Amino acid sequence: MRLFHKRLVKEVEPMSAPTLNQFQQQVSELLLRHRSLLDVMSKFGQSGASVNRAVTKAVTDCGCIELNARKQQYSDELNLENAKETLQSHITGDVCEHCLEALKSELGRNLFYMTALCNLLNIQLDEVIADEYDKCSTLGLFNLT
Ligand SMILES: [Zn+2]
Repeated sequence: MRLFHKRLVKEVEPMSAPTLNQFQQQVSELLLRHRSLLDVMSKFGQSGASVNRAVTKAVTDCGCIELNARKQQYSDELNLENAKETLQSHITGDVCEHCLEALKSELGRNLFYMTALCNLLNIQLDEVIADEYDKCSTLGLFNLT
């Protein structure tokens, strides 16, 4: 019964995400309290730290994912096919539903303040993404920085 209800609710939810322009417009309408550039900059930094904190808590509090980091084994013969196998994320396990929700929430907040920063500096979010997309296409897969 519970499962049925959950599925029903999910189907009622809108399927498509708002456009970046719609989101940016909404952020500009909502942002009354933190209008100062300094406030937005510090909230952007703080929300970024909260994203890292949520990842950390998934490891140390929940334990759904584990971290086992070591030096990456780069080699000169690294090509597209073996790079994905050789280079490690250092994560074992899968993020549970609870941590996933927490992570998405913190990422959303970070995105909110990034967008607010764009608004204050008259930068279009969709242009930022389009430019980065082009840059990634040009640089290719080995751009690791
Ligand atoms: Zn978890």
